Amino acid sequence: MLRIECPCCGPRDHDEFRYGGNASVVRPGHDDPDPEAWYRYVYVRENPAGLHPEFWQHVMGCRQWLVVERDTRNHAIASVSFARKSSR
Ligand SMILES: [Zn+2]
Repeated sequence: MLRIECPCCGPRDHDEFRYGGNASVVRPGHDDPDPEAWYRYVYVRENPAGLHPEFWQHVMGCRQWLVVERDTRNHAIASVSFARKSSR
């Protein structure tokens, strides 16, 4: 069982969260006409062995989007932070 330390709610089972994908993928600008950039954004993903930033949403809790840095080899979580940019 994967346990995620939500910054708002504390440690919770991963069943309370929804996986949101790779957090290292950068979305092209709205006005970017390059179809290759959009193709890479939508379809091309790496399959890393090691630490990997991922989006997770705490859907059964505070509903915050988080960035979870997880080791894909053993599911060990190195860090959890809010996905939103803080103005503080
Ligand atoms: Zn939470």
